[in-house]
Amino acid sequence: MNFSKGDMKVGVIMASSDRQTWVLASHNQGKIKELREILLSRAIDLKSAGELDLPEPEETETTFEGNAALKAQAACQATGLVCVADDSGLSVDALGGDPGIYSARWAGPDKDFAAAMTRVHEALGDKARTARFVCVIAVARPGEPVRTYRGEVVGEIAWPPRGTDGFGYDPVFQPEGETRTFAQMTSAEKRSMSHRARALAAMTAAEFEA
Ligand code: IMP
Repeated sequence: MNFSKGDMKVGVIMASSDRQTWVLASHNQGKIKELREILLSRAIDLKSAGELDLPEPEETETTFEGNAALKAQAACQATGLVCVADDSGLSVDALGGDPGIYSARWAGPDKDFAAAMTRVHEALGDKARTARFVCVIAVARPGEPVRTYRGEVVGEIAWPPRGTDGFGYDPVFQPEGETRTFAQMTSAEKRSMSHRARALAAMTAAEFEA
């Protein structure tokens, strides 16, 4: 392999035998593990942005689709490989979709999600508590337009926060028809209904089964 980060060029990566190599433009270990498992069954090896020393572009777009596409495209230009990126967040109806693409930023540099959840709760006051988690996955193939796939799970903002599993806003998100929040579920239970699982299912159906 032959990297030169300065001019954003990454040398040829030889896949073993006839296996393809895809790149996930993320440094998040959880996302890497989940996608790697799915792609393995398609004879695709997954490299992460960290393994390839790819820089993380600034998320300057105003939609989940825009930010996911921006990240996938930047990685595709740098590597010449098929690249996947995702963008996700909590969108609260009565807050006009906030925190939305700013979900991570509401937690501040210290990633204080207790403070971010309190901010959501206080901003809502007596308003309707319906919300959804959104995940958009973008696939960039060299020489082709980027394609995006959206998955959503609808629910409501619970208060006070409940449960210790999961991450981010999980303790205040109770999916429709459930009595527990995401943070009170096992990871397998959450995966069976999550926005990320739905976006991944849409992506694999279109990219491999169309
Ligand atoms: P990103 O997609 O890695 O930019 O993450 C966006 C932010 O959305 C995360 O930092 C979390 O705050 C929030 N988020 C996205 N998906 C979930 C989830 O499944 N549970 C809880 N929070 C989530």
